[in-house]
Amino acid sequence: MPSHSHADLIALRSAHLNPALSLAYRMPLKIVRGDGACLYDEAGRGYLDLVNNVCHVGHCHPDVVAAGQRQMALLNTNTRYLHDCLVDYAQALLATFPPELCVLFLTNSGTEANDLALRLARAHSGARDVVVLDHAYHGHSPSMIELSPYKFNGRGGQGRADHVQVVPMPDAYREPAGPAGRHASPHHMLAMARALETIHARGSSPAAFFCESMPGCGGQIELPAGFLESSYAQVRAAGGVCVADEVQTGFGRVGSHWWAFQRQGVVPDIVTLGKPMGNGHPVGAVVARREIAASFATGMEYFNTYAGNPVSCAVALAVLAVIEREELRRNATVVGTRLLDGLRRLQQRHALIGDVRGAGLFIGAELVLDRATRVPATREAGEVVERLVGHGILLATDGPRDNVLKIKPPMVISTAQADHFLAALDEVLASL
Ligand code: PMP
Repeated sequence: MPSHSHADLIALRSAHLNPALSLAYRMPLKIVRGDGACLYDEAGRGYLDLVNNVCHVGHCHPDVVAAGQRQMALLNTNTRYLHDCLVDYAQALLATFPPELCVLFLTNSGTEANDLALRLARAHSGARDVVVLDHAYHGHSPSMIELSPYKFNGRGGQGRADHVQVVPMPDAYREPAGPAGRHASPHHMLAMARALETIHARGSSPAAFFCESMPGCGGQIELPAGFLESSYAQVRAAGGVCVADEVQTGFGRVGSHWWAFQRQGVVPDIVTLGKPMGNGHPVGAVVARREIAASFATGMEYFNTYAGNPVSCAVALAVLAVIEREELRRNATVVGTRLLDGLRRLQQRHALIGDVRGAGLFIGAELVLDRATRVPATREAGEVVERLVGHGILLATDGPRDNVLKIKPPMVISTAQADHFLAALDEVLASL
């Protein structure tokens, strides 16, 4: 394959590729190789990848690569044939869930998983309307753009559809009533009650409540304790199905649990999975309660050409095995705690860091110009990200004000790599 210069690559992209694609960083990187928590450019320069929540067990993990290569050289078909990999994966994955969540549907992406979850919820409830959290992102298909305030209220968005109600994101750092502490409070319940009333007032009823167990695009938010429990109770009482989007937070990222909803002490009706599931190979899934899956068996076949193919299942099985064998959930807790502690120490010295939050390797640091008024330091956050590239560290910003440093590295990140980041961030914050 010919090797193109940076300038050529940029010109060829704009000549031939869709103009809605974006590039990370002012000086776009040409990354040619990955290993563990690091990426390497064409000059062999290494970068610590703090933002890739897809290559979960490390870039190009040899076990995952070997599993895919082996199966690809042997056979790739679809779910209309019997195959060991498919049922072995179903068994291994479902063993990580509470027993109520016992039926697996495979897809090729997080968007497909959420689309399918919406179909399941509608089939089960007989209803059509949906409640979502403000600033949520659930995928790029037309139906998921409609469930994603992050998109429909963002640039190029066309606003809220009538069948969607939005409840405020419970952000403990920025609650209008002052930090209500880290617990769900009556105003959260009131907001949900109003959303459900609005649905009823338009002669409809709720099919589902979609909610990430820790909102990612919303700014690496930790939901207040009890939030999912009270929201789920309200939604279920109105006949709706509760969907936990674990596309970003699943597979042990939060350290203490396999699934972030477990930190809230709830069992959703449907859980959707994606990103880390295939370590970069495109696989996603829906895990549902049996009665909900049964409502979907209307006689119409669910066939998805690629989903559940033996290669994808072999890859996904290898990912689960590596998480267990390398004790990556424990690593997420150890290194995540070190990052949170280190960021909180930096917060004492750098006024720009307004809030540090997260669990395991799902962490946010919100930058503000003034701690009292919490004016977002959006420009500074972007500058921190750009300057860190010079230190060989890849990071990104997110959140409604784009002022939150989102930290979600591959689960194999070491304490030494975490310390390297903290030292570089200290230097960059001092240099602003
Ligand atoms: N849900 C959440 C929470 C996500 O973060 C994403 C991807 N950013 C999706 C769904 C959609 O996943 P995909 O890009 O694999 O379709």
